Amino acid sequence: MISNASDMPFGPGSVAERMHDIREAARVVSEGFSRAYMRECIDQHRFPQEIWETLGEYGLLGISIPEDLGGSGGGQVELVALMEALAEAGLVLPMLLLTGFARVPIIRHGTPEQIERFVKPTISGTEKLCFAITEPDAGTNSFAMSSLATREGDGYRLTGRKVFISGAADADRMLVVARTQKVGEVGRRTEGMSLFVVDTDAPGVQLQPLNIDVGWPERQYLVFFDEVRLDADRLIGLPGQGLAGMFEALNSERLLVTAMSVGLGNYALKKAVAYANERKPFGVPIGGYQALQHRLAEAKAELEAARLMMIQAAATFDAGGNAGAHANMAKLLGSRAAVKAVEAALQTHGGYGFDRDYDIITLWPSVRLMEIAPINNEMLLNYIGEHVLGLPKSY
Ligand SMILES: Cc1cc2nc3c(=O)[nH]c(=O)nc-3n(C[C@H](O)[C@H](O)[C@H](O)COP(=O)(O)OP(=O)(O)OC[C@H]3O[C@@H](n4cnc5c(N)ncnc54)[C@H](O)[C@@H]3O)c2cc1C
Repeated sequence: MISNASDMPFGPGSVAERMHDIREAARVVSEGFSRAYMRECIDQHRFPQEIWETLGEYGLLGISIPEDLGGSGGGQVELVALMEALAEAGLVLPMLLLTGFARVPIIRHGTPEQIERFVKPTISGTEKLCFAITEPDAGTNSFAMSSLATREGDGYRLTGRKVFISGAADADRMLVVARTQKVGEVGRRTEGMSLFVVDTDAPGVQLQPLNIDVGWPERQYLVFFDEVRLDADRLIGLPGQGLAGMFEALNSERLLVTAMSVGLGNYALKKAVAYANERKPFGVPIGGYQALQHRLAEAKAELEAARLMMIQAAATFDAGGNAGAHANMAKLLGSRAAVKAVEAALQTHGGYGFDRDYDIITLWPSVRLMEIAPINNEMLLNYIGEHVLGLPKSY
């Protein structure tokens, strides 16, 4: 099966060429790691350190970091290509997504010293980053967050709670979105938010694992910040003006989630096609029945549509344009298409689809999750309705 049907113009420096080179490198890496290895990491909630180190050795963790900063260059286009190619091989690496997008505001708004300290060690893979925005009470309504960093000397003290924080125990540092001004102290709710880099083992940080199983190696945590001391160099950008950096990170996150969705969707389809060509309960392959074939074909078309939207948005992001609308649309379409692909694969496998050893039902939680997290699709539709179509705010 062709893994992605997009026949994009190919030439020196073209988006297609940029993606092709990364896909080739990812293919070499993924050949060394089986889906069985990944399943073991997922089942045991063990961080796939071996893949991480190999990605570091190949320079793939330095993707999207400029070469003059010690990175491998490229941007979101290369990063989504990597994420997609690994997922297509059944390798689910949320930490790549987290570290990948959490670096964005540090590179764009951090000082050279902050980049040296917080970004450089992630290029070799020595350090990992996670991201903390969600709060138990605020949920989707992030602007209602109450985690507060108050001034203390030239630094801050952070107190609050975050929930569902993926990989907090595996990561060395987390990019935390917190208020430096309470909602009542600012003119608009979007003001007064700041970005901080917090060490996951800093005094006052406590991690409580949650009992969540979404087919990822990383666990999720309830994170408590109890008067955590943050030196001045932990603030990224200007105090109270973290919104731009936050949305840059979130747009990157949406693209990487799309890449993971499209990759996993294609992984499921590949397995379904192989099975449909060989399973013959009535003497002919079930793949010849249109009821199944069309279902698989529709999923493929929708994965392709999401993929093209993702590439378009990633290229816009890299060119410094506003990728918001297309990044949101890509995530909406990609997460839905991935669910459709896994559903089609499940149908194709009949009863065996529910046998974990066939590795279809095992994909379902991770693709279904992506319709809800990092942002639920309803909020993406709200965004499109309000900001693309110009309709009244609906919530
Ligand atoms: C496995 C996993 C990993 C995660 N990793 C991280 C992480 O690393 N860092 C982090 O900060 N967060 C993380 N999250 C949190 C995730 O981003 C939130 O769960 C998500 O944003 C939704 O918030 P909520 O669960 O509180 O849902 P709620 O806000 O309670 O919403 C519940 C449902 O209500 C509907 N809804 C809510 N608001 C609206 C609206 N305005 N219009 C229409 N419908 C609406 C949606 O259907 C939504 O699914 C993770 C979550 C999970 C499950």
